[in-house]
Amino acid sequence: MIGAFDGRTPLLRLRSGLSKAGIGSEGNGVRVNKLIRVMLGLVDTVVVGAWVDGGVLVVEVRPKAYAEGRCGVCEQRCAGYDQGVGVRRWRAPDLGHLRVFLVGSVPRVRCPQHRVVLARVPWARHGARHTRDFEDTTAWLARHTSKSTVARLMRVSWRTVGSIVTRVLAELDTKAGDRLAGVRRIGIDEISYKRGHKYLVVVVDHDTGRLLWLSPERTKKSLGGFFDRLGEDRCAQLELVSADGADWIADMVGLRAPQARQCMDPFHVVMWGMKALDDTRRQVAAAARREGNADLAKVLGPRCRFALWKNPGDLTTRQRATLAEIERINGPLFRAYLLKEQLRAVFAPGGAERGVYLDQWLRWARTSGLSAFVDLAYRMEPYVDEIKNALRYRLSNARVESINTKIRLLTRIAFGFKSVSALIAIAMLHLGGYDLRLPGRAPT
Ligand SMILES: [Zn+2]
Repeated sequence: MIGAFDGRTPLLRLRSGLSKAGIGSEGNGVRVNKLIRVMLGLVDTVVVGAWVDGGVLVVEVRPKAYAEGRCGVCEQRCAGYDQGVGVRRWRAPDLGHLRVFLVGSVPRVRCPQHRVVLARVPWARHGARHTRDFEDTTAWLARHTSKSTVARLMRVSWRTVGSIVTRVLAELDTKAGDRLAGVRRIGIDEISYKRGHKYLVVVVDHDTGRLLWLSPERTKKSLGGFFDRLGEDRCAQLELVSADGADWIADMVGLRAPQARQCMDPFHVVMWGMKALDDTRRQVAAAARREGNADLAKVLGPRCRFALWKNPGDLTTRQRATLAEIERINGPLFRAYLLKEQLRAVFAPGGAERGVYLDQWLRWARTSGLSAFVDLAYRMEPYVDEIKNALRYRLSNARVESINTKIRLLTRIAFGFKSVSALIAIAMLHLGGYDLRLPGRAPT
């Protein structure tokens, strides 16, 4: 119980249940109510009374007259409907040792758009069981501290943190509609979660490095949501879009931002080359085994993959010896190795000549007599323009990949949410460049 400050009047009386009397009725009570209002940072709110019940400070509140009668969803002023359905309770941030709850009844209004709905209250978001300050503090902590710290400090479950973060982010998104303003160069990719069973679409701004969009499922519809959000005008301003060659991405970009130049991520192309090299190795090893050449088959076993894959500068002495051995005993595999290295060289820093190198490489691959590389050359054909765009504008998906790595880490933390929207919210909170503020603090 909080004691008397002036030694005469008890500021708070121990009470239980909702009471209009308490401390707010007369005399010092009015001053105390104001003090409580200031301490809790309540705006547009009247503190009707307050009392301590066990370790809990209960504060009865109502909106000031001018803040009443607004729709809880769209905040438009509308006609009253009824007095609501009894007393509601909102958890507020602790005050010293005390847990704090606001209590009050919330009338319903009839909104032209949202029909009969609970009226807006100044201290909490629509549908929330925590006050706005409580939610903002929790979201800030979820951004800056560990999972266990935020849950313990705020005395809530991690699942509650998830729904709070989702709500805070939804509001920030509505307010910050222009987070997508000036977006010119984006990267699109997909990321798997839940042990690779489920996917998210990821859109990143190449210029700011911010995560712009994260939505469930890797489908055209899911990606379409991003372009809807962007709006027609801003879609028309997109200049470059990098991706990994997935058809559903290319189709959607072609449909919604046809003027944007699509860039094929060089890393993916090099990975294709690596795969063709490994396919060749397996084919040659299988042929050696069939012909009873056990020594050659052994040299070409899975271990030699690393010697073939690594950049020449990173090879160990032993791997260099393996490579020399491959050069000596098997022409086709060494040719495949050189093709892989040449493909990597196409993407080395340089100017317009890189496009010519690509054409030369494709000709060489097509006539190499190595089936894996002949296939690869034909598979690359439809992407030649996109690859040349990547070379010309020096755009790769590296930024997107780095965001993906961070999302993967966050996924592990956020796994306890069990809801994809909470997972998306926590990732956006960390990587979306949102302006999160602690209650009552000036912007930093
Ligand atoms: Zn409304």
